[in-house]
Amino acid sequence: MTGFAKASVRDADVDGKRALVRGDLNVPLDDKKITDDSRIRACLPTLELLRERGAAILVCSHLGRPAGTDPALTLRPVAERLGELLGTDVPLASGLVGDEVAAAAERLGAGDVLMLENSRFEPGETKNDPALAKALAALADVYVNDAFGSSHRAHATTEGIARELPACAGLLLEREVSELGRVRDDPEPPLVIVLGGAKVTDKVGVIDRFLGFAEEILIGGAMCFSIFKAEGRDTGNSLVEEEGVEHARRVLADAERSDTLLELPEDLVLGREFDAGTDVQELNSVDVPEGWMGLDIGANTAANYAKRIGRAGTVFWNGPMGAFELDPFAAGTRRVAEAVAEAPGHTVVGGGDSGAALAEFGLADRVDWLSTGGGASLEFVEGRELPGLEVLPDA
Ligand code: ADP
Ligand code: MG
Repeated sequence: MTGFAKASVRDADVDGKRALVRGDLNVPLDDKKITDDSRIRACLPTLELLRERGAAILVCSHLGRPAGTDPALTLRPVAERLGELLGTDVPLASGLVGDEVAAAAERLGAGDVLMLENSRFEPGETKNDPALAKALAALADVYVNDAFGSSHRAHATTEGIARELPACAGLLLEREVSELGRVRDDPEPPLVIVLGGAKVTDKVGVIDRFLGFAEEILIGGAMCFSIFKAEGRDTGNSLVEEEGVEHARRVLADAERSDTLLELPEDLVLGREFDAGTDVQELNSVDVPEGWMGLDIGANTAANYAKRIGRAGTVFWNGPMGAFELDPFAAGTRRVAEAVAEAPGHTVVGGGDSGAALAEFGLADRVDWLSTGGGASLEFVEGRELPGLEVLPDA
């Protein structure tokens, strides 16, 4: 794989050893039932490789944002699902660290898999407490980071631990870095960035990174209203992030000076409320009247974006074009998703909701890479260092 400079699990000596694997198994749950297991599936290749090579495996992850131990956020459902997918029993340890966990780890044989309990039950996790990292390290001989989606956080299971054990990247982390790295550093031109979703402040760094580098940046979702507001347009009741308006002013000025085309919607679909049953109106401009909110890009905008995506050498898409969860406002996101699926260029999609949209339209396997990392994929393409990646030794 090109450009991956870190130690890889492919080259790790694990036969007869205990490997601690950090996965990003933070799956969506509906009352302890997993509603989407793709993050578990994404980690399987690394786990299978380690089993084939004779390692005993401890898997750890966080789940949700518990404040201390919280039975509602136990990793038990994840352990069960992982066991089904691997075709072996995957017991759940009593905690992340401790004597009981150490005893269970001792008993593991080659190919056995033990799931450790939710890492965020330990207060030291998010503090990157060295004592917690040391206690974890005592359980295993090698550390494998396969949690791309958590690697933008310097936590004990993503960063601290890699200082305590021989460490390497798992196959998913490696693939994420090379796919997103191609977009960031070496895209086949023209590079078309498609940005939508709700939070301008989260994504303005991506615009900054690609202004002057990408050929085109296409904006949809609620993001565009901060920009329209900065242009002095009426935005009605559209979702406008006030903090984003300042950013948007700067972005507009920067775009003016750059060679990158910053493309904004030319038409919209409006609703009275964020509700599938609300009144709907198509607007052939972008000045939103009082009492209405922009909830999707219009058909002309979608067709324009689809055309540009089809001509791209590389496409990076993050963020839905509208409130795609609501049927009357899904068409713009669907059109863009289809265009990305059909595009002959290298196509990479990041972001939880963009991925959910692709899955809903049955197109998830039609893109070259669907990133498992939301925030991590944004920070990576922005050029920020991911602590969990940086800490790994070079190959
Ligand atoms: P991702 O998870 O792909 O990074 P975000 O989390 O930034 O995307 O944004 C997704 C959310 O943005 C969706 O819930 C969607 O309903 C919402 N959204 C998109 N466009 C609009 C809009 N015009 N008005 C309000 N919400 C919107
Ligand atoms: Mg989201």
